[in-house]
Amino acid sequence: MNHSTLIKDLSEKFRSGTGDWKSEEIAEQVWVFSSDGMAGTNSEPIELTFGAITHGNEIVGLGAFDRFLHYLASKKPVCNIAFFLGNPEACKKDVRYLERDLNRSFSAPFKDGVPAIDWKPILLEERRAVAIQKALARSKVLIDLHQTKCPSEKPFWILQMAGDHYKIARTIDPESPFVCYDGIFSADGDGTAEYVRRLGGVALTLESGQEGMHTDQIDFMVERMQRAFEVLSGQTALVSHDPKEDRGLYTWDQTIANSPQSRLVEGLKNFSLVQEGVVYGYQGDQELVAAKTAMSLFPKYPRPDQTKPSAELIRFLKPYKPVGQ
Ligand SMILES: [Zn+2]
Repeated sequence: MNHSTLIKDLSEKFRSGTGDWKSEEIAEQVWVFSSDGMAGTNSEPIELTFGAITHGNEIVGLGAFDRFLHYLASKKPVCNIAFFLGNPEACKKDVRYLERDLNRSFSAPFKDGVPAIDWKPILLEERRAVAIQKALARSKVLIDLHQTKCPSEKPFWILQMAGDHYKIARTIDPESPFVCYDGIFSADGDGTAEYVRRLGGVALTLESGQEGMHTDQIDFMVERMQRAFEVLSGQTALVSHDPKEDRGLYTWDQTIANSPQSRLVEGLKNFSLVQEGVVYGYQGDQELVAAKTAMSLFPKYPRPDQTKPSAELIRFLKPYKPVGQ
């Protein structure tokens, strides 16, 4: 099935609701499910929001959404849940974005979820950000479903450790690694997560593995979405682990900048273990040697159609030490 058909089919399902859940499209391809279909109109808080195709070519979220709707059909509408399709136009063309990375388009001057009067969204992705904010501004918890460009040794989450982020994420997923950060994720602009967090919500980004409609990734995502629903609808208590005891917390130690002369050796994945002294890439004729043994994150291999080199070549991870918790 091509991406346009997938999006069309899924949008129709979202429009009609599922089981006892009534649907309301509060902005283009942004739906709120509730018991009466009035949560959007009544400006009620949204307990849980799921996002898919925030990056147009990371399509597995569409499969996860479809399957989660079946699950939800058998559940009572005990809370408000929002779903959004981030960048359908980019998805139809199987690209990450068309005019600007949507996940860097949430930094415009917004106040209480409303764009400042003198700010006009111009680019397609800026307009999408404004539409999606209608749900995000009222969301207590966001789970945004992503995939990575390269293969991944395992699925992982990206989150900040502030407030209830850790407790909620560990309850939803007791096993997977968390990539934690305190500062900014990207200097190019805020994404969905930064926007939700700025308004006091919890924002979790799930990276399930390499791009493509992979059934094992759908299984993984749907299982976590179900747990999130159980947690946010009050059926499952939050874990009380001490994050200091958690061996699965990482952050990036080094970000290696890219240059037109830089390239990585073949076969690096997310969470590949790179040993100290090993050559992981080249800059012109010069070898890039790992300064210490560490796992890799977001290795970048240029695509044949890529015109502009990415800003980064690769990141290396180190254990994350929670501060003040
Ligand atoms: Zn992504």
